[in-house]
Amino acid sequence: MRPLAAIVDLSAIVHNYSVAKRCAPGRQAFAVVKANAYGHGVREVVTALRDIADGFAVASLEEAAEVRAMHDEARILLLEGCFEAGEYAIAAQLGFDLVLQSAAQAEALLGSELPRPLNVWLKLDSGMHRLGFDAAELRQWHARLADAPQVAELNLLSHFACADERGHPLTEQQVECFLGLLDLDFTHRSLANSAAVLTIPAAHMDWLRPGIMLYGATPFADLSASELALKPAMTLAARVIAVHEVAAGESVGYGAAWVAERDSRIATVSCGYADGYPRHAPSGTPVLVEGQLAMLAGRVSMDMLAVDITDVPEAGIDSPVELWGSNLPVDEVAIACGTIGYELLTKVTARVPRRYI
Ligand code: PLP
Repeated sequence: MRPLAAIVDLSAIVHNYSVAKRCAPGRQAFAVVKANAYGHGVREVVTALRDIADGFAVASLEEAAEVRAMHDEARILLLEGCFEAGEYAIAAQLGFDLVLQSAAQAEALLGSELPRPLNVWLKLDSGMHRLGFDAAELRQWHARLADAPQVAELNLLSHFACADERGHPLTEQQVECFLGLLDLDFTHRSLANSAAVLTIPAAHMDWLRPGIMLYGATPFADLSASELALKPAMTLAARVIAVHEVAAGESVGYGAAWVAERDSRIATVSCGYADGYPRHAPSGTPVLVEGQLAMLAGRVSMDMLAVDITDVPEAGIDSPVELWGSNLPVDEVAIACGTIGYELLTKVTARVPRRYI
């Protein structure tokens, strides 16, 4: 087998979920498991959290149905709602909690005949301007939906744009906008993503929605996962499959983009952009070989990448390589690549076997 795997530590995810719960005692939390549990494998993650998670949140009806197939009783929140008229009856049949984020969705729900009423979360656009109703529209929809036969619980939800930048003025404005609807009667309210769970108690409301923190990565640029007591869940592990001696002045890889400044040893590693490692990762991106810090050298290929192991003399063919994980935070690799841990984790492709520990 090709020596590459995403090793997922499910006990880390359980630990991280309990960190979220400890941040907000007495509140409930939807574990956000959309996008295949941020690349970690939705089946295994839902199974690991089955007995402790209060609910799960996903992006699409398909994802929700996958979680329902594993878990008869779970509360499952559909974060973007439905997009076709026929989906409302399916959502009700499968017992999903449904976000309504547009007038078209609300009208479609009111025009649906459902096998049973469902829990609705009206989405407030508190300032992100991506999805949801402004406060005035939301009041009108509250009035129309409160006694609608399609609605069991009527709940309120919003989402932060900048909670990951501590002290950003928009965050306070969004909280104020949310609290401006306190006079309306809702069964539950939900506002906090990971960043807010971790640092904004005023935003905890009664249902949290932690995502990235469950997987042991940080939403913040200036606070590391370990400072937040989070444990990394995924280690992307490969091996050295070839070693080349490269003389000063010679180049490595496509485009001859990396040129050795000294006589160098270059390891070819079994992971490339078709596995989800970013092609745009620049030379110098950190990689661990034999547990030692080394640097990416040259362009990432489809199935391989090159690492300068000149300063890791013990490294050779078969040496273990950590692209990110328990010893090299995904957030550090993301910063080197000009992206975020979310993107790296969710982009690990299906051809990378997931191994669970
Ligand atoms: N809630 C909503 C509506 C989301 O879209 C997301 C993720 O994008 C989350 C919660 C979880 O956010 P995070 O992964 O930053 O905790």
